[in-house]
Amino acid sequence: MSDVPPKPRSANRRPGAKQAPGAAQAPVGADARRLKPQPTRSLLTSAPTSQVTNPPDQRPALQQLCPNCALCCNGALFRDVELQPADDPARLAALGLPVKTLRHLQRFPQPCVALDGCRCRIYAERPTYCRQFDCALLKSVQAGQVSVEHALRHIRKARRLLARALALLRELGDTDETRPLRQRCLRTLRRHESAASQPAAAALADLTLAWHDLNRELAAFFHPGTM
Ligand code: SF4
Repeated sequence: MSDVPPKPRSANRRPGAKQAPGAAQAPVGADARRLKPQPTRSLLTSAPTSQVTNPPDQRPALQQLCPNCALCCNGALFRDVELQPADDPARLAALGLPVKTLRHLQRFPQPCVALDGCRCRIYAERPTYCRQFDCALLKSVQAGQVSVEHALRHIRKARRLLARALALLRELGDTDETRPLRQRCLRTLRRHESAASQPAAAALADLTLAWHDLNRELAAFFHPGTM
């Protein structure tokens, strides 16, 4: 069962989305950085910074946001994804998704095993739900209500908070990266509820705060109803 209602998604369009499952698409993240020509020393030394301007990025919003985000695939927003009638469970299982039947619905858990950094390794064959989901932030950018730069700031902030929560979970002994964030936080907080040692108490307080701040950010900008 999902933490939040099933990912409501729009139509079939997301060339580089969530770059989650990223098969036949442009390289992103580390790959993109590797392929991007590095500025030469002469450019760096011969032109003042104020004179070096980059052309505006004309790519669609989802290609600019999702490859830097993946919050809807990495277990921060959802704990599982339900398959839809158009999906082929056997094919998805063959691609590596651990499809299970729970309460009469077929689903696979998050964090998604097909996620590689912010890329989807099965992008061309990703499930229906993954094709259709657009978060509130992406929709706002597509509607012209929020700039890409502003949206990227929210993504960076949410990912910073997530990284903080994950680091605290590891510090508190939870190293199971295959579980969704909510489950890991609840389990760790419960396990240490009666922790007497000061260091554990401090880490628990920090984890509670980081998780709360992350949920607030996710609920406000990515998926209302997350908290
Ligand atoms: S949460 Fe939104 S911006 Fe982030 S990958 Fe998913 S759809 Fe893209």
